[in-house]
Amino acid sequence: MKRIVLCGFRGTGKTEIGKVVADRLHLSFIDTDDLIEYQTGRSIPSIFHEDGEERFRAVERDVIATLPGKDVVVSCGGGAVIDPTNIERLRTDSVLVLLVADIDTIEERLAKKPRPPLTNLPLREEIAEMMERRRQFYYAAADLCIDTSETTADAAGEKIIRILQDGTTTVRQRETGMAFFKTGRIPAPELHVLESMLTAPARDPLTRLVGIAGYPCAHSKSPALFNSLFSRYSLAYHYTWFEDPEIDEIMAIARSLDVKGLSITIPFKQDVLPLLEEVDEHAARQIGAVNTIVFACGSAIGYNTDWIGVRKPLVSYKGATAVLLGAGGAAAGAAYALTDLDMKVTILNRTPESAKVLAERFGCGWGGWEDFDTIRPDLVVNATPLGMHPDDHSPLLDEQLNREMTVFDLVYTPPETPLIQQARRLGCRTITGTEMFVGQAREQFYLFFGIDVPAEKIRELVP
Ligand code: NAP
Repeated sequence: MKRIVLCGFRGTGKTEIGKVVADRLHLSFIDTDDLIEYQTGRSIPSIFHEDGEERFRAVERDVIATLPGKDVVVSCGGGAVIDPTNIERLRTDSVLVLLVADIDTIEERLAKKPRPPLTNLPLREEIAEMMERRRQFYYAAADLCIDTSETTADAAGEKIIRILQDGTTTVRQRETGMAFFKTGRIPAPELHVLESMLTAPARDPLTRLVGIAGYPCAHSKSPALFNSLFSRYSLAYHYTWFEDPEIDEIMAIARSLDVKGLSITIPFKQDVLPLLEEVDEHAARQIGAVNTIVFACGSAIGYNTDWIGVRKPLVSYKGATAVLLGAGGAAAGAAYALTDLDMKVTILNRTPESAKVLAERFGCGWGGWEDFDTIRPDLVVNATPLGMHPDDHSPLLDEQLNREMTVFDLVYTPPETPLIQQARRLGCRTITGTEMFVGQAREQFYLFFGIDVPAEKIRELVP
């Protein structure tokens, strides 16, 4: 039997419920906090008080590294899943069950059984603050989510066991999902895989879907990359295509199939915003486009990782003069990244009015293509589809480039675009769209699953 790992904030019932599940399934039960106390011969408050939280986390990491790999129910300390190393270890061949509860319930439970404070705040404020700070990590960790606010440990334990046996979706939901996939342009071998997951009698109820939502999205390299990562980290997930002209339809199917996450591509990055319960403050709200949705505990939360994929290869270009070609969704993420690096940015677009709208949001200059020659940039970023089939030519003329410039082409199919080939020939430094793809996919995988995959590993796996 797979290892069952319970995680979540203190006061959500991990220990009590963990014991119920272990007892019913005749498995052993391990509480990592108890194990830390046993192995160190000290209480957790004393480790925290005398050696500090960092030391406690190091001991916790060692304990998690040596947990048995199967036939066990584990209850983790509330902060354990924040560490990506722990998550990577806990996720291997395991089911992670996130327990949540409302703030009143947690406050009441903690008042009855006090624990060492995590902040200097009064209890209720501490709970609210810490739950908010950790929420992204808990959601990334969750394979299943159980609300324990209005239930007994016995009932919550029974519910977990039921889900482990049957999954979280009904036959009807899965049949509707299968009918949706059959109407798309999904290749026959992929339809067989989906059938084996959704409608075959021998299906594994714990394997969940992740996917790319777009129209079209058949060209995307994400399915191959993510499915390789699932094998590499032994995750019971499958990544597929949600191709449909209506994003409302895709979201409805994703919710009813209890999908873990979606990558969002053309033309839905903006249209999906009103369909989400929450949008990440720092990126998606300011950029105005979402390329990542994490579903957890009944909510769909939108993020943007495109800007991180643009920013990462450019950190040494702080303060540079940059021209950004294009004013669509990718350009918005790029404008956010370049201005975050204090660059002096001019946005040039075929339709200058769109460049103006984007430029005003980020405090940039703007213009039409013809203004390029007046700027003399250190950096040129192409955020138009020029270079991609059928527009397979460079957006710039040879005489517009010189060897002092760096050229970053966001287009990644083909990996060596006409612009990249031209810039190399003219002696410019080049950054390919694959670098952006790697950076945004790495962050997306982290948001979905909490595992921080090294960039080299992703680069190796990009098809
Ligand atoms: P989008 O929202 O449709 O915007 C396209 C932009 O390109 C618009 O500003 C449009 O100008 C301009 N454009 C389109 N065709 C043009 C043409 N023939 N000549 C001149 N300008 C043209 O698309 P997007 O989501 O921003 O994506 C843009 C590119 O970035 C795509 O090729 C995509 O593959 C790439 N991308 C790469 C990654 C990665 O991970 N490497 C991630 C995201 C996107 P108008 O305003 O005049 O229409």
